[in-house]
Formats: sequence, C-alpha cells, structure tokens
Amino acid sequence: MKRISLKWKLTILYTLLITLLTGLVLAVLLSLGSGRLLASAQAALRQRVVESFDLLESREGNLTVDSDFSDREGGIYLSAYDEDGLLLAGRVPYGFASAIDFQEDTVQTAELNGSRWYVYDASTQVRDYGTVYVRGVCSVSAVEEEMNTLVKLAVVLLPATVLLSAVLCYSLVRRTLRPVSRMTRTAREIYEKRDLSRRIGIEGGRDEISTLAETFDTMLEQLQASFEQQKQFTSDVSHELRTPMAVILSQCDYLLADPELSGKDREAIQIIREKAKNLTRLISQLLLLSRADQNRQVLTMEKLDFALIGRSVMEEMEAAAQEKQILLETDMPEHLMMTGDETMLMRLWMNLAENAVSYTPPGGRVKAGCARKGNRVVGYVEDTGMGIPAEALPHIWERFYRVDSARSDSSHSGLGLSMVQWIIQAHGGEIHAESREGKGSKFVFEIPAEPGREMSAEKNEKNENPLMFL
Ligand code: ADP
Repeated sequence: MKRISLKWKLTILYTLLITLLTGLVLAVLLSLGSGRLLASAQAALRQRVVESFDLLESREGNLTVDSDFSDREGGIYLSAYDEDGLLLAGRVPYGFASAIDFQEDTVQTAELNGSRWYVYDASTQVRDYGTVYVRGVCSVSAVEEEMNTLVKLAVVLLPATVLLSAVLCYSLVRRTLRPVSRMTRTAREIYEKRDLSRRIGIEGGRDEISTLAETFDTMLEQLQASFEQQKQFTSDVSHELRTPMAVILSQCDYLLADPELSGKDREAIQIIREKAKNLTRLISQLLLLSRADQNRQVLTMEKLDFALIGRSVMEEMEAAAQEKQILLETDMPEHLMMTGDETMLMRLWMNLAENAVSYTPPGGRVKAGCARKGNRVVGYVEDTGMGIPAEALPHIWERFYRVDSARSDSSHSGLGLSMVQWIIQAHGGEIHAESREGKGSKFVFEIPAEPGREMSAEKNEKNENPLMFL
C-alpha cells in the first residue's frame, strides 16, 4: 500500500476535526434557532390575539369590529366567535376546520392540507355585549420554511468551510514541514552521493524543527571532521609504513642472496619476505583508497593499449595458474587503444585475474577478454571456480569484505574488489559481477575509451569531482 505522507495525514486529520466541529456547531445553532423561531411565532400569535381585544366594541348592543381585525398582519389570521361558536368577524385560512375545539390560553398545533398551524384561543368581555372568543391562527410551515433556508445555507457553507480549511491546513502544514523535507533531502544526498559536506542550512528559526536542523548540521560538521581525520590518519599511516616495508623486503633479499645461509634460516626469511610482500600490497591498496576518498589520488591519463596490458598480466599469472593446474585463456584483440592510467588498469586486470585463479580449484579454467564496443571498452574475467553466494554478491565491493575468510589465504585482505571498483569508476565506467555458487563467476566491466572527454561532460552534469587529472 502506498504510504501517505505526514503532510496529507495532518491535513486530513485537521480537516476531519474542523468538519466535525463546524457540523456540531451548526447543528446546535440550527436546533437552538428553530426552537427560538417557533417560540417567538407562538409569542407573536398570543400577543396579536390579546391586542385584538381592543378592536372589539359594542354599539347599541351590537358588536362592532375595527377593520384592522381582518388584516393578516404578521401572517396571523384573526376570527371572533360568540358563545355559540358563531363566526362574528375576521377570517380563517382557506379550508381551515373551524371544528377545532376552543382551548383557552394554550397554543394548539393543527394539521391542514399537509401544513401545520398554530391555533391560539382567548375570550374577552365586551362591555354591553358579552363574551367574545377570539381565535388566532398562524402557519408553522412559514416558520419552518425560514428554518429550511437556514439549513440550505448551512449545507452550502459547511463544504465551503471544509474546503477552505483543508486548503489552509495543507499550506500551513507544508510550511511547517518544509525544514523536515529539507532534512530528508540532505540526508538522501549524503548517502546517495556519499558527500558529508552537505548541510540543511536552516538558520535563525526558533521553533523545534529549526533547532533540530541546526543540531543535525552541527552533528554533520563533527562527523565530517572526524571522517576527514580518519582518512588522513589512514593515508599518513600507510605512507609512513611504506618505507620500513621496503627496507624489510630489501634486507630479506640481501640475506637470501647469501649462499652460506642455512636451510632453516632461508626458510624463515622467505616466510618473512612473503608476509612483508602481502603487507606491502595491503598498505599500497589502503593508501590508494584513502587518497581516493580524499580526492587526492591522481590518475595519469595517457594513450595505451588495453589488450596489451591484459595479455601481459595474464602471462604474469601463468606460473600461479600452472601451479594449480588451471587453464588460462585470453580473448583479446591484437591492439585495443584507449586513454587511461596504465598502472591502475594493470591493477584492475591483476586483481580480477588473481581472484579468479585463487578462487578456482585445480583443473578449472580462467578466461579474460576485452573488445571495443562503440566508444567504449568492454572487458571480462570469468572462471569455473567456487562462485559467490547470492547473499554475499552485493557486498563483495565493500572494503575488507570477505565472503568466508577460510576460503582465501592470508594474502587476501578484502580490498581487491573495492580497488577494482574505484579504478573503473575513476575512469567513468561500470562493473558488475555475476556468479553461481559452485559453478563460477564472471566480472564484466565497461570503460569509456576516451574517459577524459566523456567524464568532463558527466562532471559538469553531476557537479562532482571524483578525479583529478594531471
Ligand atoms: P580478497 O582480497 O579477499 O580477494 P576482494 O575484494 O578481491 O578481496 O574480494 C572480496 C571477496 O569476494 C573475496 O573474499 C571472495 O570471497 C569473493 N570473490 C572475489 N572474486 C571471486 C571469484 N572470482 N570467485 C569467487 N569468489 C570471489
């Protein structure tokens, strides 16, 4: 199910709340209003009946009624009756059943032709004439119609209020949550572009979200500083270790050159030399990666023959392959010219080929190939080795990641493929691995034949600077 954003959730919640409250208020107002309207209609009826007594007089024993008595003032009909119920004056609504019993001093409700009426009866003593009954009648439906008009108005007003409050709520919530969107965008940029220098940049706000954004920025500042320190430290340490390692290796070679060295000593020195070589390799890989992290690794771009480099690396691997009875095959054209850093591209072939030979059991086959595809160079190294489990495949590019330390010897540090990936990316290319456990692996890559040109276009587009060219 699609996730609803907080912005919409809050808007819906507030709008529902406002709809509920407005509906409630309108319902209370309408019911109070209708009660008041009906009560005031009854009061007006009573008053008109009582006031009509002044319009009745007797002249020479006969009842005379002022002409105002017959006016339908305020929608009220007045009629006067003698003690026998005979209509003396006034009028009643058309078809009104005069058979409604007289009930003095109470407002009765009567139904006629689908309309409702209020009926109020009262009697008065007219001097020299006797008792006269006055009946007042007014339509309840007229009052109800007024109410209906109010209800119609409310029916129009309610959705309008809801719509208006929804729009206001949305814009208010959007404004309030804008810093949160910025924080999300910044966090995403940091992990997608691996760039800790990004900041949210909300300053001067006093609310909680602005304070959170400022705290987040301060935390990023500190994180960046400590990462920089860490990178610098790794780079410095690797750099400092290179010279003593070179001295150890040369001293080993010097000792091994002595023909009088005993077999036991020779064996011990050879072990030291082997370990020192592994360590030197690890140090140079670390140095390269830490420089790459600091954007300090310089690539020397020159015109070169990629196939020639590939073949020479494969020839170098021949001895190790033969030792393991692994068949090495190449599938490369005579020449494949491109622009790149020779040392780095050699490392690329070397790391992939070394892995292929290391992780392929005796009797297996390793094949490396390259070709030109348009303005790109494609290459691959495949083997019939032990393969990589599917769950480990996404992690093999991570630093110091090893699928299973038991299956590789101590010369493998887990940095080889990180370095391969960096070399490919630094040349503006891509690499991916396909593997089936127990069947073998294939590493396929693509690099622009002229990375300088393609990369400068890409660089402008992304505004990134992964490379420093000499
Ligand atoms: P390492 O120095 O340990 O070889 P890498 O970064 O080169 O480190 O490789 C990471 C892991 O990927 C290795 O530990 C290994 O398990 C696995 N791997 C790399 N290449 C192959 C291959 N050709 N066949 C099987 N597994 C491989």
